[in-house]
Amino acid sequence: MITTNFQQIRDQIAQCALDCGRDPQTVQLLAVSKRKPIELIKQARLCGQTLFGENYIQEAAEKIPSLPSDINWHFIGHLQSNKAKLAASLFDCIQTVDSLKLATLLAKHATAQNRSISILIQVNIGREEQKAGVAPEEVEGLLTQIRESTSIRVSGLMTIPPLAADPEATRPLFRATRELAESLAAKQLFSDNDNIQLSMGMSGDFPVAIQEGATIIRIGTALFGARE
Ligand SMILES: *Cc1c(COP(=O)(O)O)cnc(C)c1O
Repeated sequence: MITTNFQQIRDQIAQCALDCGRDPQTVQLLAVSKRKPIELIKQARLCGQTLFGENYIQEAAEKIPSLPSDINWHFIGHLQSNKAKLAASLFDCIQTVDSLKLATLLAKHATAQNRSISILIQVNIGREEQKAGVAPEEVEGLLTQIRESTSIRVSGLMTIPPLAADPEATRPLFRATRELAESLAAKQLFSDNDNIQLSMGMSGDFPVAIQEGATIIRIGTALFGARE
């Protein structure tokens, strides 16, 4: 059953990339497995999926050790400082860094654990008061303060735009996120400025996100079904 979902979504991603002149290989599918059981994640792994996203540290700590070790885990939820140590031990990428304090803590814990992790800066592109993330004009200041180290790579930006019934309404925000990332890369503020990661687009709007330059799309519902 989820085999079909994976096949369909992968086909859609590839077609959408080709239609807008992109190499399908430049779009990574992140399977969002929050609140989904280990058995289902194992099935997804058997479908060839190796990139997964989780939102809750406690839940991830319970699931990750029982899952294949070749899975690449991204954290996409809100991260509290007191969970930074555990997050640094479980995840290969933290997509939701929005403060210098958090970046510094992650670097410290990754170093202590002899791990190398990547981070994305979460941008509050819709300037929503209740939402986490850095205001667009503050990303540059934050990037200039984060100290690069072997334990932490700053790979790009992530965004969760305001919910919209029509994905076209989100297009300008995806575009603004990509333009922001490009201007920061031009100032050499990422770890690999020729290869910046843009995590944007979910089940309801990923084709538009791909058209606007997403390199990681985060899909839950369309792969695993609705969450409880
Ligand atoms: C849950 C979640 C997703 C997946 O959303 P779907 O609509 O189920 O595809 C993507 N990104 C973030 C940050 C999430 O929390």
